[in-house]
Amino acid sequence: MKLDTSIALMERARKIIPAGVNSPVRAYLSVGGHPPFIREAKGAYITDVDGNTYIDYVASWGPMILGHAHPRVVEALNDATRRGTSYGAPTPLEVEMAEEIVAAVPSMDWVRMVSSGTEATMSALRLARGYTGHNKIIKFEGCYHGHVDSLLVKAGSGGMTFGTPDSAGVPQGLARETLVARYNDLTSVEELFMNYPGEIAAVIVEPIAGNMGMIPPGAGFLEGLRDMTRKNGALLIFDEVITGFRVGLSGAQGLYGIDPDMTCLGKIIGGGLPVGAFGGKSDIMKAIAPLGPVYQAGTLSGNPLAVTAGLTTLRILKEEGVYKQLEEKAAYLAKGVKTAFKDAGISIQSHRVGSMFCNFFTDTPVRDYDTAKASDTGLFGRYFTGMLNEGIYMAPSQFETGFVSLAHTREDLDRTIEAVSKVLRGL
Ligand SMILES: *Cc1c(COP(=O)(O)O)cnc(C)c1O
Repeated sequence: MKLDTSIALMERARKIIPAGVNSPVRAYLSVGGHPPFIREAKGAYITDVDGNTYIDYVASWGPMILGHAHPRVVEALNDATRRGTSYGAPTPLEVEMAEEIVAAVPSMDWVRMVSSGTEATMSALRLARGYTGHNKIIKFEGCYHGHVDSLLVKAGSGGMTFGTPDSAGVPQGLARETLVARYNDLTSVEELFMNYPGEIAAVIVEPIAGNMGMIPPGAGFLEGLRDMTRKNGALLIFDEVITGFRVGLSGAQGLYGIDPDMTCLGKIIGGGLPVGAFGGKSDIMKAIAPLGPVYQAGTLSGNPLAVTAGLTTLRILKEEGVYKQLEEKAAYLAKGVKTAFKDAGISIQSHRVGSMFCNFFTDTPVRDYDTAKASDTGLFGRYFTGMLNEGIYMAPSQFETGFVSLAHTREDLDRTIEAVSKVLRGL
């Protein structure tokens, strides 16, 4: 595979952009090799500047559930652009968008649009703190909620139950307000509630973890969080930035039947443009400015182009049979891939929820960050590079989730399964 143009662009980029990229995972540091620079994408395919075309399972990290450049989204955007790209004033589109969201996600009475998932979780935390009057937050090790200071926190060492910064520049004092529990382990959450009675504003969780590979919630985990937060006067925040409109119209909360106090959305609801949203029970949302004392704002919030792309995407997703199709495609792929690994004698932990999938290179069950980290990342890296050479574009890290889109055809899935067999033979 020729990547000359990408390599030349990377040389130029590195002189003026940190590591040549605008988001770290794109630099391919954990898998090695050169990231293709992308020229265009259509449907299930993504094409780089050297003319290599790949079957895409990254989907821009989740948003492109319809496939790239869906004709209806493109047409809606073209129309919208001619009417102006930003007004900084209320628009009918925002009302329609909010109506679509609250109709699909029953726990959300009210919603406010922002411009990224990070902004959504940051605002939700501030609101939770402002509403409850408590400062501490519980998050789970391995869950990612954007690059919010309070959430770039990892578990402290030894006997410490409070978190320590997971990034330079996050003040230790702020990190101490974030407590870190173990995913799928209710006891670890219970201990924190016992150690900090009356101090916890919220528990924030990815109801299906999608940023340490993909790990579904174990039986009773989300229900337990719901009970514990209610009992202790803390809010339950579902970060559905990935899972919202991905595993169903009402997200993971619909799939598992949980009623969180607040929900963060992003990715799919922007249809590929920069969007986030946070919302929840109206008595909580009333605390947001200008109705209440918790400040939050955004110059481009509810931007007409972003909302147009998102709204068009949501309307297509509401059509009959869409999630059934996604389920069937992803199940077909997962089954074929699993068989290919089995035939090659390489043991993996194969996870799938709807159109989200992940194969951990380990022979022990994965249910939290520590067990995910047991994966053989060296082997994953060789597998990743092999797949890229075969024209299959996957996330360049073991600790990401793959996405099937509506645009993947049976032929694409068969080609992918054949590529897996071929690559595994060469490992
Ligand atoms: C991607 C992601 C975010 C952050 O969204 P950005 O738009 O990248 O800021 C937050 N939470 C989860 C679960 C995500 O996957």
